[in-house]
Amino acid sequence: MNKSALICVLILMTTLSNATAQTRRQPVDLLVTGGTVVTMDQTRRVIEDGGIAVSRGRIVAIGPRAEIESRYTSRQKINAAGKVITPGLINGHTHVPMVLFRGLADDLDLQEWLTKYIFPAEAKNVTEEFVRVGTRLGLAEMIRGGTTTYCDMYYFEDAIADETAKAGVRGVLGETIIDFPVADNKTNAEGMAYVEKFVAHWKGHDLIVAAIAPHAPYTVSEEHLKAARAFSDRTGAPIVTHISETKREVDDSVKAKGASPVAYLDRIGFLNERVIAAHMVWPQGTDIAILKRRGVGVVHNPQSNMKLASGVAPVPRMLTEKLWVGLGTDGAASNNDLNMWEEMDTVAKLHKVFTGDPKVISAQEAFELATIRGAQALHLEKEIGSLETGKRADLLVIDRDTLNQIPLYNVYSDLVYATKAADVESVVINGRIVMRNRRLLTLNETTIKADARAFRDKIIKSLSTTR
Ligand SMILES: [Zn+2]
Repeated sequence: MNKSALICVLILMTTLSNATAQTRRQPVDLLVTGGTVVTMDQTRRVIEDGGIAVSRGRIVAIGPRAEIESRYTSRQKINAAGKVITPGLINGHTHVPMVLFRGLADDLDLQEWLTKYIFPAEAKNVTEEFVRVGTRLGLAEMIRGGTTTYCDMYYFEDAIADETAKAGVRGVLGETIIDFPVADNKTNAEGMAYVEKFVAHWKGHDLIVAAIAPHAPYTVSEEHLKAARAFSDRTGAPIVTHISETKREVDDSVKAKGASPVAYLDRIGFLNERVIAAHMVWPQGTDIAILKRRGVGVVHNPQSNMKLASGVAPVPRMLTEKLWVGLGTDGAASNNDLNMWEEMDTVAKLHKVFTGDPKVISAQEAFELATIRGAQALHLEKEIGSLETGKRADLLVIDRDTLNQIPLYNVYSDLVYATKAADVESVVINGRIVMRNRRLLTLNETTIKADARAFRDKIIKSLSTTR
């Protein structure tokens, strides 16, 4: 064989072996490669120059980029070189359509705010259309800010679920049960019939977990709370509720029922590992031990609790006692946004100043509250909250080149104290890209803004007629 023929053979062999490697690589739906992967797995592994392979909505592999690229191929790719990849954020408590009441009434305590402003405004304005318009606005804000899962409680929750599924966002969505006539249900029987249909409708959906949401132990009777628990036992639906939000709620409960709200709920057999309890600002005596024993998930809403001057939940103690604690914004009317980056920053700082101990909640713990611990609080830790093989592919690609993030020494410090919602560049939920390079792919922002502004005028008019 002469020299040029030998070269030809060598080139052919190289081409063939490359082709074999190509064909050996497994095709997947999406590859996210390059960048620093903050996994939030059990060892809190951080992978520099990492990669994630996604197929059928789940993570099929995660590791160093070179390894992932040698094993997988995909037509759809996100190049995350120089960026940070994290699990999607989990907003553990909100009332999403209330974005339409953002800024309607501020600087009041919970009772005055609820009874003088929010309940009347809701009575006059909440329709299915209101709920859909508000939900779309809230969803757009949440996707932009990197929230991939949220836990909600409102009215017309079936319409909220419909909008959420269309936008490709994950939700634990609770239809409100409350002992006075509300927009979608005039009696408890109507409310229970609604949740029956609602929960059956969404059973087995990839994104939506339909729940029952008895509003609070002070707005729902013992009989109706027990019925809600029985419904949850029969269907497996989670129970979303508010517990011990204010000192007054606790004092009233002690007076009327001879027990704190937690002790009372335990006495009537309401608490279990399907309950998601928002606030828990004022646990008394053995309340935290009861919550731990019953496996209740607790959601801390630092900014809402601060704004309504409800108090400071003993979160450091809850963490020491290994309660399942997550983080939420509460409705935008008491926050006034759905921004989990602010919530993480606030939770770390609020507890430092309140306890006088700067070590009490670290940046890493604050990030855990919005991811893996948030997943635990929603009883979804097997599916979401961290980037691990087998889990749902809910992830963020975060720009690291913005002025507020430069320079970078510690990734958790950066995420909690420096990153802003606007730094979120791309968002993947259940393997689907819902925002790419800051462009929303499932929602029309222009229409959403116009629809929401039109509702502002209606709301103002509805309230002025009562004065
Ligand atoms: Zn709430």
